[in-house]
Amino acid sequence: MTTKDIGAVDGAKTVYPIVRLLSAVKTYGQLNAIDHVDLDIRPRELFTLLGPSGSGKSTVLRAIAGLISIDGGRILIEDQDVSNIPTFKRNIGMVFQSLALFPHMTVFNNIAFPLKMRRLGRAEIAKRVSEALDIVRLPRIAERQVHELSGGQQQRVALARSLVYNPNLLLLDEPFGALDKRLREEMQLEIVRLHKEIDVTIINVTHDQVEAMILSDRIGVMNEGRLEQVSAGEDLYRRPKTRFVAEFLGRSNCIDGLLQTGMGEDLAIVTPGGAVLAVDSRFASAENRTCTAILRAEDIALSTTNSEAPGIADIAGRVDLRLFEGETVYYEVVVDGIEPRIRVASRDGAFAPGTDVWLSWPREQVWVVNEASNGQA
Ligand code: ADP
Repeated sequence: MTTKDIGAVDGAKTVYPIVRLLSAVKTYGQLNAIDHVDLDIRPRELFTLLGPSGSGKSTVLRAIAGLISIDGGRILIEDQDVSNIPTFKRNIGMVFQSLALFPHMTVFNNIAFPLKMRRLGRAEIAKRVSEALDIVRLPRIAERQVHELSGGQQQRVALARSLVYNPNLLLLDEPFGALDKRLREEMQLEIVRLHKEIDVTIINVTHDQVEAMILSDRIGVMNEGRLEQVSAGEDLYRRPKTRFVAEFLGRSNCIDGLLQTGMGEDLAIVTPGGAVLAVDSRFASAENRTCTAILRAEDIALSTTNSEAPGIADIAGRVDLRLFEGETVYYEVVVDGIEPRIRVASRDGAFAPGTDVWLSWPREQVWVVNEASNGQA
């Protein structure tokens, strides 16, 4: 295969992937840790693999790095099959959760280590270490010992060490997982800044959906070794292809039923319990199929009166739980014919448990997926 046939059209430009997984498989005994994963990473993008623990994210990263070999499929880096290329020849920077710094060496010697391995001259090493420390905004600490530094500073040293030999590709495997929330957020912004400033493609791994959304140009959601969907964050959130993706990102209500016409609505999902949820006519092609309506908790408004406004869907229920969360008030509302309770995130805290309410939402906010066709209805 040549670069000519792997172009992906992106607007007017053709973009060639820097990393390509072609039906990659990694097995451990009976388990497919990665299960026929096809993935293209574009040059200079900040891509995140997102998924629950054990879904195969690290295995994908380790396979790209060459730390493990795959049992099926192929991995190409810059159009070259890398199965016989050892890690140290792949020109990849890596930062993992265990930073693997040498605690009793100076910062300088830690960062210089990969350059010494590559047998660079002394003056060149000094220059590059100093540049790397500038990039991660840690000037003037080169002579300190790593064990004297704070967690956040150590993180930056690990980052500097991974960047000091100008890799084309930087792999981040939950490097901020052990940091407290404030430091984690600081490092996330640091990665965004760094990605803007230097010419590097980044593949990041996290189970934290907010981190994935903040950082990434695109996100790949993993589930049990499979890649469920690859999209920009907003697209994943608004137009999930599967129920799993919808449930993993944000708070959603997933309501199963048969997509039908003639239930007093143009098109509706009718639940086994008999509740009728109007949906937009763009989902008409899935008529008579079992589908899942996805309704985001923050898209639902509560009121004691029925709005009866055009384009707004209404359904009656009774508040069962009310939790004040600060920015929002979280409710669970019992609705006849719908299991489980409907989750609502509202700015309005006026509804006590036991109150009869109307739930309403703009009809076009209901998204419909049909798992049988593996994606959007
Ligand atoms: P994630 O990074 O999403 O948490 P991993 O890629 O680490 O998931 O693991 C995917 C699956 O492969 C898990 O079920 C894990 O237990 C299994 N696995 C990973 N590495 C090994 C290994 N060296 N030996 C056996 N099973 C492994």
